[in-house]
Amino acid sequence: MSTLPEARRLPGSEWLKDHPKLLEVIYLFTEKTLRWIYPTLKRISPRGGERLLLWVEEPIKRYIFNCQMCGQCILHSTGMTCPMTCPKNLRNGPCGGVRQNGHCEVIPEMPCVWTQAWRRDARMMLYRHEIHLIQPPVNRTLQNTSSWVNMLEGIDTQIPEGWGVEIRD
Ligand code: SF4
Repeated sequence: MSTLPEARRLPGSEWLKDHPKLLEVIYLFTEKTLRWIYPTLKRISPRGGERLLLWVEEPIKRYIFNCQMCGQCILHSTGMTCPMTCPKNLRNGPCGGVRQNGHCEVIPEMPCVWTQAWRRDARMMLYRHEIHLIQPPVNRTLQNTSSWVNMLEGIDTQIPEGWGVEIRD
């Protein structure tokens, strides 16, 4: 059995991920709730609000998704399957190394997370089309921060300095 952190699956978490319709509804509800309560939290204590959200987000997502805390969550665009649990951390997958049985070439006992993402996405109703979006590279400077806060602050969609294409005459 692989000891890579990407391979970890806690009891019951695969069952939950195999119900992506339920998860996407929870996702939508969570997003709406966060957008509603965040301004108040920020007014009371900006730092405290961030810590509270991180404190809630991390254990829940680590349990269900084996979240690697990349800080830029795209779960709803990837069949409610975390792309950072691909050992190659591919945000646009799968790679060319998927085995004939649909398993990962790095961790042979593990199903390829991108084949799982594709199958789960087909069962979604709200975000199904989003798996076709091309994802930008992950911004590693956001590692271990709250993706909820980054979403609410619009940080997760900002292009880091130096990443843009400069067009010169
Ligand atoms: S925050 Fe990043 S690592 Fe965590 S579940 Fe979302 S995509 Fe995966």
